[in-house]
Parts: sequence; C-alpha cells; structure tokens
Amino acid sequence: RRSESRSADPPYDGSVHQQVVFCSRPEAGLRAIITIHDTTLGPAIGGCRMAEFEREQDALDDAFRRSRAMTYKAAGADINLGGAAAVIYGDPAADKSEALLRAFGQFVESLDGRFIASSDMGTVSEDMDLVNVETDHVAGVGQHYGGSGDPSPICGWGVFYAMKAAAEKALGAASLAGKKVAIQGFGNAGYQIARYLHDEGAELWVADLDSTATDRAKREFGATIVEPDRIHAQDVDVFAPCAAGGVLNPTTIREINAQVVCGSANNQLEDERRDARMLDERGILYAPDYVVNAGGLISVYSEIHAAPRQKAMQDAETIGGRLEKIIARAEAEGINMLQASNKISEERIAAVAKLASFHLGPLE
Ligand code: NAD
Repeated sequence: RRSESRSADPPYDGSVHQQVVFCSRPEAGLRAIITIHDTTLGPAIGGCRMAEFEREQDALDDAFRRSRAMTYKAAGADINLGGAAAVIYGDPAADKSEALLRAFGQFVESLDGRFIASSDMGTVSEDMDLVNVETDHVAGVGQHYGGSGDPSPICGWGVFYAMKAAAEKALGAASLAGKKVAIQGFGNAGYQIARYLHDEGAELWVADLDSTATDRAKREFGATIVEPDRIHAQDVDVFAPCAAGGVLNPTTIREINAQVVCGSANNQLEDERRDARMLDERGILYAPDYVVNAGGLISVYSEIHAAPRQKAMQDAETIGGRLEKIIARAEAEGINMLQASNKISEERIAAVAKLASFHLGPLE
C-alpha cells in the first residue's frame, strides 16, 4: 500500500532531496537555489529557471517540483542521469549579466559534477555558454561550442510517437491521418508537433496568446484557430497541452471531449493525485507529461555523450513503446497512467540503488 500511495503522489519537498544549495554572490547580483533530488542513476541534471519570486518558499517549491520530475523523467527514459533543478532570482530581461552567470557557474563547479546545469524558462543557450566559462558541468550550450542545438524537433518527435501509441489504444489506429488534434501553445514544441502531425494528415486546431504564432499555424498547416481558454474543450480526438503547466484541473477536465491528452508541457496536472484520477475516471487516456516530453532531455543527453542527432531522434521514437508499457501496466494493475509510469521509474531507481550497495556497501 505504501508504495502505491508513493507512486500516486510522491512528495517533492526538502525531505526527499539529497542536497539543497543556496547560492549568494551579492557583488555579482546572484541569488540562486540548486536542488538535487536524486543521483542514484547518475549526475543530476536540471534546468536553470530565471524568474522573480515573491517568497523564497515559492522558488523552493518550483525547484523541488522540477527536480523530482527530472528524476522520474530520466528514469523513465532509461537515461543515466539523476534529477535536479535551479532557480536564479531575477528578471531575465533586466537582471542577467556575465558576472551573474559566471558566478552561478562557479557554484555549479563547486558541486564537482553532482549537478549538470541546463537551460529552462528565462535562460537560453548563450547563458549556458557563460556558465560554461566556469564549469564543464553544463549542457545546452550553443552549437558553436559543441552543443546539441534546439531540442524542440526531438521533443516534438517524441510527443508525436507517444500520441501514435495513445491513438492506437484509444482511437483504434496508430495512424493520426484524418484525426483531429487541438494544440494549446504554438511555440517551439507546439510548432514541431504540428509539423509532424500535418505531414501525417491530421487536422489541427490551434490556440496561442500570440497572433503571429496562430497566423503561422493557419498559413502553414491550415489550422483552425481557437480562443486560448476554449482549446481544451474542442470536439477533437487528441488534446495536446504545449504551453503552461496546471492546465489539467477539475474545470478543464470536465470540459475535455478528446479521448487522449498528450502534449509537451511540463506539470500539466494542477494536482497530480486528484487530476490523474479524474482523467482516468472520465475515460480519457492521459499520457504522462514527463514521459511524453522526454525528447528534450534525450537531446541534451546526446550532447553530454557527443552522440549524433540521428541517435537522439531514434531514442525519442522509443517513447511510443514506453507509453505502451505504461498503458499495459495501468490496465494490469487497475491503476491510473501516472501511477503506472511513476512505478516504472521508481522500480528502475530502486534496482540500480541495490546494485550500488552491492559494489560500495559493507560486506554482510
Ligand atoms: P515556447 O515559449 O516556445 O512556446 C510556448 C507557447 O505557448 C508560446 O507561443 C506562448 O505564446 C503560448 N502560450 C502561453 N500561454 C498560453 C495559453 N494559456 N494558451 C495558449 N498559448 C499559450 O515554449 P516551448 O519550448 O514550446 O515549450 C512549451 C512547453 O513544453 C513548456 O511547458 C515546456 O516546458 C515544455 N517542453 C518543451 C521542450 C522543448 O524542447 N521545447 C522540451 C520539454 C518540455
């Protein structure tokens, strides 16, 4: 029972983190937090989010949630990395400087490879180039420095294959030709997903707050444009959240007409336990976000190992098969999709943790 409730809603506060580092270098304008959730599978990789937070607890919660999700994402994608996150306090448009990013890089270096920094909201690859001046433990640097470039095409490819696996189960065929897909957010990831779907012959509904994005969706893919607050409720086969988090909540879930929810956005469920259960009860096949969007991490992982982009595309394609296993596990055990995927990740970590103690622990 204990393991079931953990899988339904694993905690993400400080009590389950291996290390939390508060970074302060006033002379460089740097205040940051690095949270390392788990390093069982390898060094912990984490996105550096630069944003303003009113309370320190809000910044910590944001980092804790993302670092735990990264642990589960890497474990579920068979990537040999742990999960971490970082928050740099400040307005990315006004407060970013070379000194701040290099000071952050020095803190990353002080962790001696336990933490690998990468970019997240508010930071871009040029920022990672500056972090890279002070430490080698950084990924997502510019392509001129050997970086892997924009992860969105690989992320989108993984989402597309996840969608095909979900469609096979819920809609009776893996082909998305003629299927109706509503995409919320037509940014880097949403655009790539739309491109693959359009090539396959799907019909697209798109919403974005930015009219340049929706104009492009109409022009390039003949998409039907919908008001952002109604995109989840369209009469379609698949709803693909590809913008902000928290979009799956009791209000929206009640209004979803699609049989499948599968998109790139992180943290789609407002309340993991409540909303995963509610989707399940409504008979909607929810493809867990961290499984579906692991292509972004796969792209960065290929950079760490200097693997070719083609290998990253092939790895992203395996996300379809991973989703099939989660569907089978959920059915076999009568649990919801999030519980099933969490269990699979937790089992891999537990198995590897045992291996480590065999090698490193005392003989008994
Ligand atoms: P992005 O900033 O390029 O695009 C997001 C788009 O969503 C923007 O065009 C924005 O105008 C739009 N948007 C914001 N709020 C909206 C709303 N309420 N309704 C409709 N549109 C809205 O970001 P992205 O890189 O495409 O990432 C999208 C999501 O996917 C994020 O949650 C991100 O964490 C996740 N993700 C992306 C990647 C990747 O490789 N790009 C990888 C993993 C996860």
